[in-house]
Amino acid sequence: MNYFNNEDICKQAFAEYRWGDDVVCPHCGQHHCSKRKDGRYRCNKCKYNFSCTTGTIFHNTKVSLQCWFMAMYLVSSHKKGVSSLQIMRDCEVTQKTAWFMLHKIRSLFAQTDSTALNGTVEMDEMYLGGRETNKHESKRTEGTQGRSTKTKTPIFGMVARGGNVVAMKVSDTKGATLMPIVSQFVENGSTTYTDEANIYHQLTGNGYNHQYVNHSQREYVRAKDIHTNGIEGFWAHFKRVIFSTYHCVSKDYLQRYIDEQVYRWNTREMSISERYSDMFSRAAGVFDYTDVLSLSSVVSIAHFREYRLMCYQLWKARHCA
Ligand SMILES: [Zn+2]
Repeated sequence: MNYFNNEDICKQAFAEYRWGDDVVCPHCGQHHCSKRKDGRYRCNKCKYNFSCTTGTIFHNTKVSLQCWFMAMYLVSSHKKGVSSLQIMRDCEVTQKTAWFMLHKIRSLFAQTDSTALNGTVEMDEMYLGGRETNKHESKRTEGTQGRSTKTKTPIFGMVARGGNVVAMKVSDTKGATLMPIVSQFVENGSTTYTDEANIYHQLTGNGYNHQYVNHSQREYVRAKDIHTNGIEGFWAHFKRVIFSTYHCVSKDYLQRYIDEQVYRWNTREMSISERYSDMFSRAAGVFDYTDVLSLSSVVSIAHFREYRLMCYQLWKARHCA
């Protein structure tokens, strides 16, 4: 707050972060564009006028960059995230604006299809949705215990010991859905640890070493090393964030909250300033959804594509109308 104390400093810092000395036209890619008197830039080749925020998450924003930077700092420094109501009070914007800002910031955390997990990988699924016993009798649904997905949304997660997490919302937890995801992200020949669920017995046939613990028999660790406590720890933290900070999240936006928590986990070794600086460089990257879309061609990551397609269509409707 001391450093970014006025809008010009924010713009200058962001432009330096984005281009250094060499301003590049976001429209045609021409280098060394000239600066205009009003602080914007003009391309010498295609005559396109642009600012330092063109094509980034701050594109066409009515909110000051000071507010954005503060919101980014709060999101990156708080372990359990910040709610839109908190941003509303801290940045003095409306709650609707704060909610929108937070989702834009969350889009910086999107997981990539290229993450590779290897070594020892723990995997597990969790189900998010209210407990039936806590609901009013008129709102209860029969037969939703355990792995039922009638009222709950399944999330599948994998964590490499001492490494990164990959987690995503899935339509169901059948082998046909989960196995392609495993082959996409976990390197062949890795050792996998899971609970006793039937679907995981397919892992051996798919080229993985597989060991499991039997949770239903109250067995949580086998031979000192075989357990799924890493991924269980991630779920525990994810649940705390949803219950204590966000209280309630819609199914449609769930993947973004997962992405946010995965990002926190994967950058857990970074200091607050390192993480803030990483977010800054992500924000300075141009948002080219068309590029992202061509990346995914595997069925297993269909949901990533769906989610990005949705973002892309929203973005297109807003900017290309
Ligand atoms: Zn140009």
